[in-house]
Amino acid sequence: MKTLTKCLILISVIAAVALSGCENAGTSAADTASQQQNYSNSQQQEPVSSQQSTPQDQQNASSSSQQGTPQSQQNASSSSQQNSQNDSSTQEQTSSSGSLSVTGSVSNESGSTSDESWALILVNANSPLPEGYSVSLVELRNFQYVDERIYPDLQQMFDDMRADGMLPLIISSYRSPEEQQQIIDDKIEGYIEQGYSAKEAEQLAYFEAAKVGCSEHESGLAIDINAEDGDLWEIYNWLAQNAWQYGFILRYPDGKEQITGITYEPWHYRYVGKTAAKEIYDNNLTLEEYLGQ
Ligand SMILES: [Zn+2]
Repeated sequence: MKTLTKCLILISVIAAVALSGCENAGTSAADTASQQQNYSNSQQQEPVSSQQSTPQDQQNASSSSQQGTPQSQQNASSSSQQNSQNDSSTQEQTSSSGSLSVTGSVSNESGSTSDESWALILVNANSPLPEGYSVSLVELRNFQYVDERIYPDLQQMFDDMRADGMLPLIISSYRSPEEQQQIIDDKIEGYIEQGYSAKEAEQLAYFEAAKVGCSEHESGLAIDINAEDGDLWEIYNWLAQNAWQYGFILRYPDGKEQITGITYEPWHYRYVGKTAAKEIYDNNLTLEEYLGQ
């Protein structure tokens, strides 16, 4: 396999979480499919690149084509893409990719094996991120970012999926509080345009999107995976069975809505570290149950 070339920039982001309380309605979908789409259109994709050009990366990659050179992706990314509007549309892809970018300094704790407590932070409607929560991000491609500590396992998971013939694509990853608020604002605006009152629009928007500070995406530990091409359910099924080996869990399982407060999201994976992921998978738990919440 390839070793990842990491290079780049280390971005330290301080997620100023404006917590306004995340109480939310019962089961709302933190990321609804539609949201996913919007998001995807707006920004894009993913991560992990492989060395071979997998399609996925491609779109993105394509333009930037990287062969993995570390260089900066930033550049790469910026130059490239105009973004693809749909994930699949263009498949032109070039070759390439290797991308991922990543960051530089891997602080001392790049390893995820020793102390994985950092990966167990609970973020939901009742447990917003702490104020001032900060995360060191690694830029993937196409303006996607994740906590640098999950990058090695994420890259390995994508490499292995590709080796099995799938074309996974990350369509949403880290979101800043501002981005989360924008998603909410866009939804409210959309409902108002449809004729709903401001209050109704807000209620509907919060049913679909988590309040600022309450979305796991703000932690940098969650990713939404789609397919650049091919059978999306093949990817979902693979992830459901194998993601735990890389430290990721299906965060919002079918049938656990009463516990997570979120409807089933087969695309949303959360990094919790390999030890916790195995236990959660083996015992069919949610993160809330695992943490005793
Ligand atoms: Zn998600």
